Amino acid sequence: MADKFNVIVVGGGVAGCVTALMLAREGLEVVLVERGNYSGAKNMTGGRLYSYSLERVIPDFASVAPVERRVVRERISMMTEKSATTIEYLSDALKQNGSDSYTVLRASFDRWLCQQAEAAGAMHIAGMLVEDLIINDGKVCGIIAGGDEILADVVVLADGANSQLMERAGLRTKPIKPSEIAVGVKELIELGAKTIEDRFNVASGEGLSWLCAGYPSGGKIGGGLIYTNKDSISIGVVVTLSEFNETELSINDMLENFKRHSVIAPLINGGKLLEYSGHLVAEAGFSALAKPSGSGVLAVGDAAGFVMNLGYTIRGMDLAVSSAIAAAKTIVAARDNLSDINALDGYKGNLEAEGVLADMKHYSNFPSFMENHRIFGEYPEMIDGLLADLFVMNGSKPRSLVSKLLSAANKVGVLNIVGDAIKGVRSL
Ligand SMILES: Cc1cc2nc3c(=O)[nH]c(=O)nc-3n(C[C@H](O)[C@H](O)[C@H](O)COP(=O)(O)OP(=O)(O)OC[C@H]3O[C@@H](n4cnc5c(N)ncnc54)[C@H](O)[C@@H]3O)c2cc1C
Repeated sequence: MADKFNVIVVGGGVAGCVTALMLAREGLEVVLVERGNYSGAKNMTGGRLYSYSLERVIPDFASVAPVERRVVRERISMMTEKSATTIEYLSDALKQNGSDSYTVLRASFDRWLCQQAEAAGAMHIAGMLVEDLIINDGKVCGIIAGGDEILADVVVLADGANSQLMERAGLRTKPIKPSEIAVGVKELIELGAKTIEDRFNVASGEGLSWLCAGYPSGGKIGGGLIYTNKDSISIGVVVTLSEFNETELSINDMLENFKRHSVIAPLINGGKLLEYSGHLVAEAGFSALAKPSGSGVLAVGDAAGFVMNLGYTIRGMDLAVSSAIAAAKTIVAARDNLSDINALDGYKGNLEAEGVLADMKHYSNFPSFMENHRIFGEYPEMIDGLLADLFVMNGSKPRSLVSKLLSAANKVGVLNIVGDAIKGVRSL
């Protein structure tokens, strides 16, 4: 092993693998250190990867990478215990290269990304936890892993939402609050390709993304998710951590309730549980971003807080890739003076140029909008009440549409509805 590397990347998730790949392509000596037995071994996502950012690194990656299905159906439901009101979006735009998205399973996808980095010349050390950073005179100079010291000009922190090293590097000064982070659990249920295509109305190679608000999270801030993979579906629930102070339900109870819902149960009937996983999702958005760089150190992906939970979709992997591109560009531009304490100052500008900060800024009011419990409790009930009035015929006396609308709206309060609608539109 070299005495000193140009760059050590900590964490072999999407962010770390792409950083290592781009740096290795430029001929830098880079080592990727992953605590799992292989990249992806400990990783989890919903999830789907929006392709636009990885396309910039590996054009047409979906034709060679282990992606599951291209998402061509976007479904959003408001659920009560006994009903679901669903919007479905289909468009040719969802199928176009660069504006399409793919369901992925991280164990195979991250492993493949890591192999691309290795093929480009990066060294990969798996099964090694980075315990600490070496910091001399305020500059990060390396890592301590397995009791050994490894030195580098730059350390890139790509160690995910629960990074212990961000604080050590001085990039995160305040602890993340329970209201700023969610916990997600997910089951992988094998159904077979044909059953998936029949039940979810998708063609071979095509898939669905389905987010559900209301009942899946027990009316708490969060939601249920379903993504179709090749032979299995990912079904999960994500809930803001602080919400568990106010409910007797565990996250596992919520997932079981979601699976037993009368709309969902037939879709997973006969399926075989392959895997159960849990993970944190940083969801406070722009206001809770860490400092992305310091002397000798950069943070990419979830470690820096580059993830957005927008309710109708979660975006983290595309931002992990974009921030990795920005980090690699910063390091390559400074390659002749990497020992300079200000060498990495260009990172923020590169994050702007790659669109990461603009995206996060654009949706900066969304997390506070989502703190509104009415979205997860009263609105699904209100919509259910209104639609039941329209569609359920039981011989009772007919009422005018206006009176049906008013009786549904009065339960929530017309002013609340108007205020929430304005806030919702502004936050998007
Ligand atoms: C339930 C759920 C659903 C989601 N759905 C979506 C979705 O549909 N689309 C989307 O884009 N995003 C989604 N996300 C977010 C997305 O998964 C993350 O944003 C993305 O995984 C971030 O990638 P990363 O490489 O930054 O971090 P991670 O994937 O967390 O990778 C971090 C890596 O660092 C390693 N590591 C950690 N500490 C150390 C250490 N000390 N030493 C060595 N290695 C270490 C870990 O083992 C891991 O390999 C979802 C997240 C969750 C939890």
